[in-house]
Amino acid sequence: MTTSPAAPALDTAFFTAWITRAAAAIEADRVRLTELDAAIGDGDHGTNLDRGFAGVMRVLDTTSPRTPATVLSLTGTTLISKVGGASGPLYGTAFRRAGSALGDTPETDLPGLAAALDAALAAIRKLGAARDGDKTMVDALAPAVAALNDAASKATPLLDALSAMVDAARAGAEATIPMQASKGRASYLGPRSIGHEDPGAASTVVILTALLDAAIAAASDGHSAASGGPTDGREEPSGD
Ligand code: ADP
Ligand code: MG
Repeated sequence: MTTSPAAPALDTAFFTAWITRAAAAIEADRVRLTELDAAIGDGDHGTNLDRGFAGVMRVLDTTSPRTPATVLSLTGTTLISKVGGASGPLYGTAFRRAGSALGDTPETDLPGLAAALDAALAAIRKLGAARDGDKTMVDALAPAVAALNDAASKATPLLDALSAMVDAARAGAEATIPMQASKGRASYLGPRSIGHEDPGAASTVVILTALLDAAIAAASDGHSAASGGPTDGREEPSGD
């Protein structure tokens, strides 16, 4: 019926894979994120987040989270305790609220994931009081969550929905370049904040891209073998 790969199960292993990929991507992008923050803030955003996600990985490596919600809640709590600055409490609370939205379920689906990211956005909006166009992470996350909810309401296949989410986040982050900041340290610069991408919007793209990448990897691993596909994902390429 469809030629797209089997949708992966959105279970505890999947959420752990997302956060693991996010931690690796933040580490890889640490210097770029810090340079963005050096232009309009205090030059610590990449270092802050890298320290936080390294702490998250230590916690996830030493505990066995039972549910997706536990993965997100441990992530959020650790980010709050390890990341200084504005982004620690904002991202930390967002992950915690996303976890609460998932509840105790062992596995969620696209509408459940969209609702969780909706809750994350609401948490950031409430805590940071940033509106759309204030040149913050909200300008990447809000369009991303809108795209994901739109896709979920149309029963779009998961990988397409997540691709649309990432595209919207990227466009949102790029749209922060001509904005003048009205929240956070960048707002101290007034009009001089114009012409630079917001670092928090850029890190939101990194974290959401990790979510898409985790889904692509899980789908191509044949993570969801229950669909009765012709292979169990262990097929080896025959090489040269
Ligand atoms: P700090 O500005 O305290 O050094 P970071 O550098 O870690 O913290 O994070 C800066 C990012 O946090 C900004 O680029 C912006 O996206 C986000 N941010 C700052 N203040 C707010 C706010 N009130 N609401 C939403 N996001 C915010
Ligand atoms: Mg900073």
